[in-house]
Amino acid sequence: MSLQRKRLEAQNSGSPVTAKHPMATQRYAAETAMLAVALEEAHIGLAEGGIPIGAAIFTLDGELVSRGHNQRIQDNDPSSHGETDAFRNAGRHTTWRDKILVTTLAPCWYCTGMVRQFGFAKVVMGETVNQPPPHGYDWLRELGVDIVDLGSPECIELLASYSAREPDAWAEDGGQQW
Ligand SMILES: [Zn+2]
Repeated sequence: MSLQRKRLEAQNSGSPVTAKHPMATQRYAAETAMLAVALEEAHIGLAEGGIPIGAAIFTLDGELVSRGHNQRIQDNDPSSHGETDAFRNAGRHTTWRDKILVTTLAPCWYCTGMVRQFGFAKVVMGETVNQPPPHGYDWLRELGVDIVDLGSPECIELLASYSAREPDAWAEDGGQQW
């Protein structure tokens, strides 16, 4: 199955909280439901042999805009983090100030810069344990970005077990660590 096809199928899966119509846009009322989409992306990345970090972008009223996952290994692309992959999949928008970035791991500085540059309203993080300080989200919070840490045990375990199994891949460019 092609990557594109897998992405399309993943895009169409998930657990919408409400749907007025089978074809209606999926809406995710709860942050945990939003995180489930990002976590699903992390698992897709892991199944592809990649680093299991996923992300998704939603509007403030819970409409799913896009989703993606870290593809540094799959695409031989150090710029492909979960957050940037979701961002690229989102296409063009007139504003990002009504958008939520949801990610399984606290964003690195590179992705923190993306949040700052494009003015996301909110960042929902699955966990912060596997992202050592200093944390960019403290800076974002000072700038008025709404920051939520869900402290997901599943997110913590997924990445901790990966980094224990693949320490070289995890430490390769420091991109997830500073
Ligand atoms: Zn990043």
